Amino acid sequence: MTDIPPRAAIRDRAAALLGALQELVLPVPCTGCGAIGPPICSDCRLTLAPEPVQRLVGAPPLPVVSGLAYDGVARAVLLAFKNDGRTEHGPPLAAALLSALALAVQGLDAPPELVPMPSTIRSTRDRGYDPVRVVLRRAGLPSRRLLRLQRRGADQRELGRAERQANAAGSMRSLPSAGARVLLVDDVVTTGSTLLEAARAVRAAGGTVLGAVTVASTPVRSVRS
Ligand SMILES: [Zn+2]
Repeated sequence: MTDIPPRAAIRDRAAALLGALQELVLPVPCTGCGAIGPPICSDCRLTLAPEPVQRLVGAPPLPVVSGLAYDGVARAVLLAFKNDGRTEHGPPLAAALLSALALAVQGLDAPPELVPMPSTIRSTRDRGYDPVRVVLRRAGLPSRRLLRLQRRGADQRELGRAERQANAAGSMRSLPSAGARVLLVDDVVTTGSTLLEAARAVRAAGGTVLGAVTVASTPVRSVRS
C-alpha cells in the first residue's frame, strides 16, 4: 500500500507485535471487563462485532453511519485506544469502520474520497499518533487530508448540544476540493456538530459531501434510525 508512510507502518507493525507478545507471555487485564488474559477477552471481542447504524444529523441532514454503539466494551476499548496508547486495539475498531463504510457506499456509483477529521498538532504530539488515521491505516483505507483546524475551540466534551454547534462553527477550513466526492471519517459521533462543521468547510471549498462514517456512535434515542 503506497499511501502508508514507512515510519507509521513500522510503528503499527511494532504495536501489533507487542500486542501479540503480551498475549503470549504477559496476561493483562481485558480492556473491556478486566479479566486477566488477552488485551480483549473472547467475550468482550464478541460484543465488538459491528452492527452498522445510520443516523441523520443537522439540516440539511447529513447521513452518518457508525459501526458500533459507543457504550460498554466499545467505549472502553476506544478510549484506551485514543488516550492510553493502546494501539493494539486498532483491528476491531478498523473492522467497525469498514462495516460502516460498506453500508455508507451502498448505491454510490463511484468510490468516495475518505477525509478524516483533523486533530490538533498538540493532541497528535501528546499521543504520538492520530487515532482516526491509525484506524484508517489498520483498515487499509486510503484517505485525503483536506481539513485543517483554523482556531482552537473549547473542549467539545464539556459542552451541550447548542454550545457544541456554536463552538464548532468556523473552526475548520478545507484545502480546495472542487470535484471531490467526500465521506467524512471520525472515531465517534456525538451530536454531529464536528462533522457538520467539516461538511460546511468541504462544501465551501467546492467539494460534495456524501455523508460520514465513524467507528462508533453515542446512542441517541430521538434520531436513531
Ligand atoms: Zn473482557
